[in-house]
Amino acid sequence: MQLIIHRGTKEIGGTCVEVSAGDTRIILDFGMPLGNGLGGEFNEKVIEDESVDELINKKILYPIKGLYKDTPPQINAILISHSHKDHYGFLKYAHPDIPIYMSAGARRLIDVLNIFIKKEGRITLPEAVKIVRDQVPFDMGGLRITPYLVDHSAFDAMSFHVVEKTSGKNIFYTGDFRAAGWKEKLFKRFVTKPPKGVDCLLMEGTMLEREAGKYPTEQDVLDRMIEILRATDHKVTFACCSGQNIDRIVTFYKAARRTKTLLIIDPYMACVLNAIKTSRSRIPQMDWNSVRVFIANYYGKGDIYVNKINDSAFRRLLPQLARSKIKPLNFPKLDLKALVLMRGSMIPALEKIPGMKGSKMVYSQWRGYLEKDSADARRFKDFVSKYDLDLEHVHTSGHATVEALKTFANALNPKVLVPIHTFKKDKYPDLFNNVKILNDGEEFEII
Ligand SMILES: [Zn+2]
Ligand SMILES: [Zn+2]
Repeated sequence: MQLIIHRGTKEIGGTCVEVSAGDTRIILDFGMPLGNGLGGEFNEKVIEDESVDELINKKILYPIKGLYKDTPPQINAILISHSHKDHYGFLKYAHPDIPIYMSAGARRLIDVLNIFIKKEGRITLPEAVKIVRDQVPFDMGGLRITPYLVDHSAFDAMSFHVVEKTSGKNIFYTGDFRAAGWKEKLFKRFVTKPPKGVDCLLMEGTMLEREAGKYPTEQDVLDRMIEILRATDHKVTFACCSGQNIDRIVTFYKAARRTKTLLIIDPYMACVLNAIKTSRSRIPQMDWNSVRVFIANYYGKGDIYVNKINDSAFRRLLPQLARSKIKPLNFPKLDLKALVLMRGSMIPALEKIPGMKGSKMVYSQWRGYLEKDSADARRFKDFVSKYDLDLEHVHTSGHATVEALKTFANALNPKVLVPIHTFKKDKYPDLFNNVKILNDGEEFEII
């Protein structure tokens, strides 16, 4: 059994791992890099017209035989751990006949995102994507694969345990995970009863270079949000967050409920939440009593998100969107306070809300995004200063802290631990046992 980490030994994002055993070859994640290798952001528009060969020459793609569109397929499957682009964003280069495996939640989130993003960023998944379930093993040639549902800022994220059936040799790939979200039970369950005899653990290490921050858990974020909403005299409080971070939206919903505040989402979030709705889930929905959808006129074109929904299979949501809507000029008449979840692209419409000067603005994403010299960061900061908003950073990471990583590594006690999804592989030997540092593209035999 061999593995090659094509990308991920020295960076966060763009993860791609090839595992082979006998005639069976699979790919774990096929992500788009986050950085361009020169300190800037990776720009997919720049590579839009380039061929696979050109991209391999530029070391953006990897020389993996039988993976790409223009050659006969020789890969048994591509397994996607979760719906973050740094784990699935290169799927469009794969041969369409190669089966893709992912969780139901990941599939729905990738599909719904296509409605809202620019053409070059869309990943159209084939109808035949195979859905994996927590702890339901499946066979793939000479391999047996068991997915494990994990706590992460992406909904329905999975780790994968890949076992060679004849020899029992095996690899555990964590994907991205944490121990401090609303699904923390999954982490506890896992470390109490981990798979035994793991030969090689590929473990993410995002947090090895980041501060754990003021709010260690999602519960801490909730507690602070309740304080903020109780203390404010303003009608509107803003919270800037990712529309796909379902745990965080749940946190904001809980905080709003506890303080008799209306939760205001936007049509994009309403659509995302609807896409992952199941009869059993307790994920907030736009038709819930204390939820409204912010609908506004952008640049004289109507609501840009509603327009996109109107052109999609989610058109059926339009009547409910209309029933749940709140427009900027409705805010002064509200009896309750409002917590408005927002993104930078909504600023031109948010500016139409009367009397927001001096309101609280909670920034609820990794602080690093704000510190970047990007158009998004500038637009956000201009908005904050123009309206004199009271900015506060309230966030907890989607990734395991160093403490949680230690607990995890000790529980699995692998023969070899290989760093992945980290900028700090050199720190691993100080923190964990049996570390083997690999380089991108290096073949490693599991013994
Ligand atoms: Zn990631
Ligand atoms: Zn992730």
